[in-house]
Amino acid sequence: MSNMFQQAIVKEFFEEEQDIISKPKYRAEVQKVIDDHQLKYVLAQFVDIHGSAKTKSVPISGLKAIEGAGVGFAGFAISGMGMQPHGPDFMVKGDLSSLTPVPWQPGYGRVVCEGYVNGKPHPYDSRYVLRKQVERLSAKGWTLNTGLEPEFSLFRRGEDGKLKAVDESDNLDKPCYDYKGLSRSRQFLERITEALIPVGFDIYQIDHEDANGQFEINYTYSDAMNSADMFTFFRMAAGEIANDLGMVCSFMPKPDPKRAGNGMHFHLSIGSAESSNLFNDDSDPQGMGLSKMAYHFIAGLLEHGPALCAFCAPTVNSYKRLVVGRSLSGSTWAPAFIAYGSNNRSAMVRIPYGRIELRLPDAGCNPYLVSAAIIAAGLDGIERELTPPPACNENLYTLSLEEIAARGIGTLPQSLKEAVEALKADPLFRETLGAEIVDEFILQKSMEWVEYSRHVSDWEIQRYTEFF
Ligand code: GLU
Ligand code: MG
Repeated sequence: MSNMFQQAIVKEFFEEEQDIISKPKYRAEVQKVIDDHQLKYVLAQFVDIHGSAKTKSVPISGLKAIEGAGVGFAGFAISGMGMQPHGPDFMVKGDLSSLTPVPWQPGYGRVVCEGYVNGKPHPYDSRYVLRKQVERLSAKGWTLNTGLEPEFSLFRRGEDGKLKAVDESDNLDKPCYDYKGLSRSRQFLERITEALIPVGFDIYQIDHEDANGQFEINYTYSDAMNSADMFTFFRMAAGEIANDLGMVCSFMPKPDPKRAGNGMHFHLSIGSAESSNLFNDDSDPQGMGLSKMAYHFIAGLLEHGPALCAFCAPTVNSYKRLVVGRSLSGSTWAPAFIAYGSNNRSAMVRIPYGRIELRLPDAGCNPYLVSAAIIAAGLDGIERELTPPPACNENLYTLSLEEIAARGIGTLPQSLKEAVEALKADPLFRETLGAEIVDEFILQKSMEWVEYSRHVSDWEIQRYTEFF
């Protein structure tokens, strides 16, 4: 499509739709993105209840639908939207100011969208659910900033269709920060880095993590909504760039039972007009640089830890990451206990200094739901002025279960079933995030558990076929 034609369409769009008052603010910006990147299509992108990106590709000539009537979907075909095949359409709408090019897919742009049904925001849409929690904070003049730390594993498929290591030589017992491992996967790492930096990811570090073929890419924090949008885009980029290189990029929480899993730690702080970090107080007598507000927030996270776990570790496989036990490298680095401590990487909450790191979430989580649940739990702690138990600065991996119990520290759910039971038993999330999405999430996850339980695994075949 010629540039002139694109311009004509965009001009028509902006001139016709004067009723959308936000438009003039970014009219020139949108036009510039389209021109600079020669966009021919725009992905109207939203997420399902699992946080997986879903889209329709809209030719640029149809751009106005995204901000106008919306782009229509059969809601019943989307996981967890609570819709029926005979119901109304699920319409997704987005703000064109979020238009960014999709660097690994030339000619394409992406607009972040939310779902509407019968003209109303859809309570099963997790981005809308997060927006409501963000609004609870902004009513108090606060913004939750989150820094997400995605970990992922690279594979390729062998001729038998099975997953194999991308780099056979990446086989150390302690592979973390290994130069050779990082260097030999650099083609993928450079491609994703160079794709994402131009679209606003301030990537500042890339490392080989503690499992073979596992990496982490760090970029600067942002407000909770933007971080969730960015992480969704990150997974889209990683999946497609890997595919282009004949690889598989997996965000599965625990691909290898003997190695560290794929976490997605959330660094948390609250900012306001007066202070960029209300969680920071250098006069903290415990020396962690935390304010009273931060301690209340932590107490909320811990009190709701078991139920929060269902959102943070939402798959059957997640509970193979959150285990009490060692990996071949010496540590799993994943939490199994409901505790917090100063720089304690064996606890559910680590305090780097003056902010909070929640280590519970894994890379397979829905970042919108996790962020919404974090706000709900943290605000509950602040509003009820909850006090957390004393910090735990011991290596929890080396304490016995009796010693942990003697310190009054609880264990995180050890299966998806237990996490779902905990979510059912904790009314907070239903009350704050909404009964629709929480009940639907419980239903989806219960079905996942039943399906898993009924599956006959290779382990069972091996163990029992001739056992008796
Ligand atoms: N891979 C670890 C996890 O599953 C985290 C490692 C780290 O601390 O970076 O949480
Ligand atoms: Mg890491």
